[in-house]
Amino acid sequence: MKKIFAVIFSILILVASSAVFAPSAFLIATNSNMMTVSLKEKNIFLKDSKKNSTILTNEQDSREKIRLPIVMYHKISIDKKGTYMVNQWQLESDLIAFQKAGYTTVFPSEIISYVKQGKKLPSKPLLLTFDDGHYNNLCYALPLLKKYNVKALMNIIGQFSNNSSLVGDSNPAYSHVTWQQIKELYDSGFFEIGNHSYNMHNYKPRFGIIQKKNETSEEYYTCLKEDIGKLQNKLRLCAGVIPKVFAWPFGEYSTNATNILLSMGFEMFLTCNEGVSFIKKNNPSSLIQLKRINRNGLFSTQELINKLSL
Ligand SMILES: [Zn+2]
Repeated sequence: MKKIFAVIFSILILVASSAVFAPSAFLIATNSNMMTVSLKEKNIFLKDSKKNSTILTNEQDSREKIRLPIVMYHKISIDKKGTYMVNQWQLESDLIAFQKAGYTTVFPSEIISYVKQGKKLPSKPLLLTFDDGHYNNLCYALPLLKKYNVKALMNIIGQFSNNSSLVGDSNPAYSHVTWQQIKELYDSGFFEIGNHSYNMHNYKPRFGIIQKKNETSEEYYTCLKEDIGKLQNKLRLCAGVIPKVFAWPFGEYSTNATNILLSMGFEMFLTCNEGVSFIKKNNPSSLIQLKRINRNGLFSTQELINKLSL
């Protein structure tokens, strides 16, 4: 009898301690809805405190404008190369070379904070972007970002990520990151997330976000807002993130589209125009239509480094 009481007592102690030390775990056992909210709030809090740690300083940057090279990656493979694909060895060689050349990677949020609030940036900032949300970025890029303590931005296409989430098949050769994996990437602290449209990364019925000939301004406005807003909503729900960066599908943009996206809260716009841009303090328009350098896998790391300084 004593033994039974001892067992019951131990169980009670265990339950009580899990409630004290692991509130989320306790909620899992009691109410799944509460758990979702609690975990999400906790993650948002952790993310906010983690991100702010780099910019919560009163130190101001005395520079009025800063040169900002932005590198555009797409697929990462084990051993293949292409115009829009580098292998893991090339990526590792790039990351080492960036550090040797004195660059420090930054998040878009830090760039926006410099422009809008004059917050500090490293002496030679560098933004690395990974377009289209390829699953191989999670497999091959994330471990390298962790190894070299490098920050990056991933630009998600909603339709692609949704398809992979529904199929549940993760293959580095062709899959895209699922909603859950986007959360993992964001929670890792090495990736910020950008919007690359929900379903406008297509050649038809329009090329990227370009207005169709037979489309009124009102129809265009509604269509753009619905599509891009749909991905904003999804990312907020699945990863607790509200992107401020928009990467134009195929690099196609227009003044109309830019104004619509500005009204939706986007602050930074990435093109596929080759080159390096300057960002300017107190000049938010310097965040619009930023140039990038495509990391063509057919070139060497040294050729890439040379392009950054052109
Ligand atoms: Zn793309």
